[in-house]
Amino acid sequence: MKKHQLTEQMQFLQERLKVYYEKQFQIQEVLKYINPSTFSNREFGFELLNGKFTRNLSFKDPEDLRTFLIENTPLGVYIGAVFEPSPSWENPIHTLTWKGREFIIDIDLDVYDSVRNCSCKGTKNMCHSCWKLIPTAIKFIDETLNVDFGFEKRVWFFSGRRGVHCWIFDDDAFTLTDEQRASIVEYLSIIRGETEDARIQERGDLPEPLKQRIYRVIIASYLLEASEEELLMVGFSKEHVKSIIDERTTDMSPYLLLKLPTRGKRQNIKILKVYENILRVRFPRLDTKVSIDVNRLLRMPYSIHGKTGRIVKPIPVENVDTFDPFDEPSIFNTKKRNLFQSLEPVKNQNA
Ligand SMILES: [Zn+2]
Repeated sequence: MKKHQLTEQMQFLQERLKVYYEKQFQIQEVLKYINPSTFSNREFGFELLNGKFTRNLSFKDPEDLRTFLIENTPLGVYIGAVFEPSPSWENPIHTLTWKGREFIIDIDLDVYDSVRNCSCKGTKNMCHSCWKLIPTAIKFIDETLNVDFGFEKRVWFFSGRRGVHCWIFDDDAFTLTDEQRASIVEYLSIIRGETEDARIQERGDLPEPLKQRIYRVIIASYLLEASEEELLMVGFSKEHVKSIIDERTTDMSPYLLLKLPTRGKRQNIKILKVYENILRVRFPRLDTKVSIDVNRLLRMPYSIHGKTGRIVKPIPVENVDTFDPFDEPSIFNTKKRNLFQSLEPVKNQNA
């Protein structure tokens, strides 16, 4: 791209971001998620229009932040932990006392690369077919955080691009140490590794409620939604595939598999192998580093994702099945121009 085009693009982004932060953005919406009483002690970070990243910043009040956003039109706005005293370039966070931050779960489709059946790979693409992995992951993790850990204040956010974040706001979660965060993530992670041969953990110790939830949420949703090819791919026989497709209803019995015709022990071992294959393609894959690092910066609710122009916004758990990221408007698309056409979804041929 020629230099003058870059400049033109930059001016366009700047103009759109300024209009958004000045006219549409409501700082009060953000304050629903960040405790206003510790606002001035929060670390903020920004991806600036010139490509530089800056952090260790704080703002004396929400209006001060809003003014900064309008004047600097950052491509990314990030929130970190609460520190005492307030962070600044003179007082960077490593010199301060860490007071806490929400517990975060991050699910991003590029972590699913080895099991995405579509042509999407890495950080570039996603399609409706691979987005289908997200609702199952949200439902499973959300219920586990609530039932097994007792976290009550959980909000899921669309990250603006290829994934979702869950913020857990309970007071107990705020002061969890990195070791405690790591142990929760460990409990939630059955899949290890991101490579083709990622092994399912040998988990004879799985608590019964968690095991039941795996059947009810993950296995059942796969049986309900998978195409004939996908059912064959995880190892079902043609006979089983026909039986599943004939019998499946919206009220899928979690134990349908157990009703499948079996011919003794060898057949049962085969079914267990099929379960494992379903878990490999459907079990939630977390970006564990995001959860464990207590100083990690995370996209601010209602900020703009600089690569797509889409808003980071809450997705109520009851709406995850109908939420369509491709329907989310981009502030960078206007009637006059669509600079970001190349970032629009790659249509899956089967979708
Ligand atoms: Zn895809």
